[in-house]
Formats: sequence, structure tokens, C-alpha cells
Amino acid sequence: MPELPEVEIAARRIGAAVTGARVESSLAPGMVTMKTFAPPLDALTGTTIAGVGRRGKMFVVGFGDLSLLIHLMSAGRLQVWDKRASLRDKASRLLVRLEDGRELRLREFGTQQRAWAKVLPSGEVDADEAVATVGPEAWPAPPAEDLAALLDQPRHLHPLLRDQRTIAGIGRSWVDEVLWTARLSPFKKGSELEAEEVQRLCDAIQERMGAALEHYEEVIGDTVPDKLPMPLEVHRRSGEPCPRCATKIEAIHFKDYVLCYCPEEQTGGRVLKDRRLSRLLK
Ligand SMILES: [Zn+2]
Repeated sequence: MPELPEVEIAARRIGAAVTGARVESSLAPGMVTMKTFAPPLDALTGTTIAGVGRRGKMFVVGFGDLSLLIHLMSAGRLQVWDKRASLRDKASRLLVRLEDGRELRLREFGTQQRAWAKVLPSGEVDADEAVATVGPEAWPAPPAEDLAALLDQPRHLHPLLRDQRTIAGIGRSWVDEVLWTARLSPFKKGSELEAEEVQRLCDAIQERMGAALEHYEEVIGDTVPDKLPMPLEVHRRSGEPCPRCATKIEAIHFKDYVLCYCPEEQTGGRVLKDRRLSRLLK
């Protein structure tokens, strides 16, 4: 799933490409993609794209008085295409056709339809429940004292940092990287962090989100590819040596994601075999 750096770079590139373009028509081949019906999608016809922004992992495409709020979920992609999609393309979820022949296209891979979009009056985006319920942005990172207050919950850091209500933009990939950078256990509870540990976490969030964006700015051209070259050091690298201490990176497999960590630097040398064991760790 695209997380803050991936959505941010896509928003920048798409914004640079389509700002100022006029909308000829829009349609939603995805039967359950549109979560709003008033204003209708047709209301975008004749408007001009004013810019593309981001809230957490969501895109906000501005059309003057109206905005499209888009969530890619786990398998969606938002891209600008030079030509229009074939209507037989089963991956198409939302098509915003531009007068110059190009198309802003939301696609989704796989059989599930989970990506969604809403047409909202621009003044109501912040009040929409999907936006209003997310915490402060992970980048730029909140000040350490604010982060301490956000994380002061008796929950393990791994799910806590991925919870968009706590802090917005970190998901299953970057949480591993941030915790490894901060040398913190994924199973340490937020409420048990010392001030110095919060500071490390704060620095790690700022450093990794910022470095990922700098990396994408360098390597990604005008068009965002389907699969971004994510600069990951531990996530999905179980069995490889830790880039810092050369200890073997370990993994814990959950139902639909994998947690990776360096046992030497993050869990006091302990290797966790599964969820039941992991709960015993502090
Ligand atoms: Zn290590």
C-alpha cells in the first residue's frame, strides 16, 4: 500500500502534470468506488484542476469549489495517462477525462474493489470523516512533545504508528523502517516510552520520510511507475544482514503483513517466533 512518501511524490507529479487542465467528463467504472452521490461526479465537468494535494495516505484533487478525495487502499494507483482507458479495462475505477485528451485514472489491481473516492465541496474536505479522524501528518514530523502525547497509549508501537488516527501516513512498510532507525522494539508500548526514546522516534520519522521523498524526487521522472523503488532497509528483508550491525533481520508473519526487525538492536537480542510469543515482549 502506498504510504505518505509514495502518495506525496505521486501528488506532486500528478499536480505538476494536470494543474490548469479542464475536465471534459468523468465516469466511475468501479461500481462501489464513489462513496458520495451529491454533488454528482458530473459536477466536475467543465471545471479546471487547481492542484493535487495529500492528507495522510489520501489524495485531494482540487477543482475550484469541488474536490475529489481519493484513497488507494492496498492496491489502487492514481496516474495520468496520455490516452483514454479502454472501457474493457477491468482495473479502471475512476476516470477524469481532460479536454486535452489525457486522463487522470484511478486503477486497482486484484479482484477486490476497495479503493474509493468522494466528490466534496472543497470547504468540506477537512470535515469529512475520513479526513477529520486522521491524526497529524507524519511528515514533517510533529514536535517530540506532541508525538509523546499522541503515543501515550498502552498499545504496541507497531500497530500504534500504523493507526492513522494516531499519526497520518505511516503503514506496514515504513513502520518497520522507522522503528529500526529509532532502534525501538515493535512491541514496546507507546505509554512506556522514555522522553529520549520519543525523541529518537521523532527523529527517525522525520529522517526516513524526508529521505524517501528526496530519493523519489531524484529517481522518479514525470510519470509515477506502478511500483515505486522504495528505499527500504529492513522491511521484507528477513534473512538478510542488518545494514548497521549485520545481525540477521528477523520477521514475524501476520495474516496479511510481515513485520521485520533487527533482534540485536531492537528486541534485546530476542528472536520472536510468532504472535503469541511476541505478546510476551515489552
Ligand atoms: Zn542491527
